[in-house]
This record gives sequence, C-alpha cells and structure tokens, in this order.
Amino acid sequence: MPTNTNMLDYGNFVYSPEVPENSKFVEYLGYVDRLLQRQREMELAWKESPFSPEVESRKREVAEVLREYVASFRDKYAIRSVEQDTAFLPVSQFLSRFQRIREPFSILHCNLDMPLHTVHAFRGHVDLAAVNAALDEDTPLLWWQRGPHNNPCYLFGDRVWELKPSELDASKEGIAMVFIDASEKDRQKLNRLSRCNSSTATLSDADAIPGALRISVWRRSGGKCAKCGSHKQLDFDHIVPINKGGTNTADNIQLLCGKCRESRRGKAEGGRGTLTTHHYPLTTHH
Ligand SMILES: [Zn+2]
Repeated sequence: MPTNTNMLDYGNFVYSPEVPENSKFVEYLGYVDRLLQRQREMELAWKESPFSPEVESRKREVAEVLREYVASFRDKYAIRSVEQDTAFLPVSQFLSRFQRIREPFSILHCNLDMPLHTVHAFRGHVDLAAVNAALDEDTPLLWWQRGPHNNPCYLFGDRVWELKPSELDASKEGIAMVFIDASEKDRQKLNRLSRCNSSTATLSDADAIPGALRISVWRRSGGKCAKCGSHKQLDFDHIVPINKGGTNTADNIQLLCGKCRESRRGKAEGGRGTLTTHHYPLTTHH
C-alpha cells in the first residue's frame, strides 16, 4: 500500500482562477522565478568549475540579488500572509473545487524563509489532460520525485501517494492497480466515518457533523491527526466549541487523534482556554 503523504499542501498554493489577475504579483513571480533559475544555473556552473573566482563571484551576486528582492516581499508572500489571502488556494482545495482543470496553472510554494515561487507549472494540453486523468483515478501522475521517505510520489484521485520501496519496480499498470486499491480502502474508511456518529457522548444535534463535511475535513488533513499526524482513535473536533459560538463549518472542524483530543480537553478545563487553529507544517521539497 502506498502512503498518503498529505503533500498536496504543506505550503503549496495555486493562484485562484476566481480572482482577477494581479499584474504586480505576475511581475513579482516572474522575477523571482528568473532569479531562482539563474541561481540554479550558477550552482551548476560552480560545480563544474569550483575554483573559478569569476563563477564564484557571479554565483554570490545572484544569491544576493535574490535575497534582497524576496526580503522586500516577505510580508506579502510568505506563508502567514498567503494563508490569509483568498487569492491563493491550498492545492487540495484548488483540485477539489475545480474538478476538471481547464486552464494552465502553477504550483507555488512558500515557507517562512522563502516567499512564493513556482515549483511546478502545468501549461499545455497534455499536462492538463494528465492532471485530469489522475484526478479521475485513471492514470497516476508523477507529482514529486521524492516524498518524505525519498520515494516517488504520485497524484491519484485527490491526493498524493508515496510509493513503498517494494512498489518501485511495478509497471505503469501495476502502479495504477496499487493506487486503485489504496483509494478504494480509503473510501471505505471514509464511508464508515461518515455513517457513524462522533464517539463523543455529549454531542447534541447542533454539534453533529454532516457526512460530506466529515469527508472534506478528513481529506484536508490526509486522514491523520491535524496536530501530531497520528492515525490512532481519530475523531472530529470543533476548534471553537458550538456552545461557545463556534460554527459547524470545515474551517472550525479538525481531525484529531485520541491523545490530542485528550490534551485539548485538559487545557480547556484548566481554564486557559486558548484554542489554537491548525497550521500545516512548514517544510520544503528542495
Ligand atoms: Zn494527535
């Protein structure tokens, strides 16, 4: 069974097709991407002639220009701002909202250090057809060369799966079968979850979470605890309790394991009552 990596998000965003194009942003992104490209070229040149002072100084120059340029955009396009900015959708949201991708799009990545830049662009017809085929659970699409365990990751259905070492040698059809199997198992789990009520005994009708909402929250957190990533005793949890004015919407619901629910309950009873919202961990892929 391949592993569901939850790597669609992790600081990865798509510019929302519903938001008008912003020429300032287009200009920023174009320049940053060119500088990053230039930096990669200089690294290669440096690897070939590590003792050339000229190459060394040009390499440093590019790095310096890039550093200064992105520094002036850190407030605008680093992770904390981007998460609040409706122009940028987490990739999972983009893919599930636009079930058929018709227009070219780019995966943009950012974290605390590096503001938004392009990590992958899907431009032509062939690219988009491949994305749609993967979303339709037809043909898996290689998404990242290396996942958390250094194995190739594929988009299939609405998530990214990392192959197990034993699956690496499989043929293309073999890989497809592996994914069909994995997402079928996942679906069965989802069906079970959406049927059963939350295990919390005190749940009133107002607290009950509709099945569709459960599924979307489950997908968002990749079937793992939103706090610690555990798979044990998962259940849904209102970030702000309904009786304290919280809403029954995806924004206010998280998937937590038994331990994390326990510790949250402990804190709430301890009177501190500070409820933290979930943030995707900040990691880079390069
Ligand atoms: Zn947990």
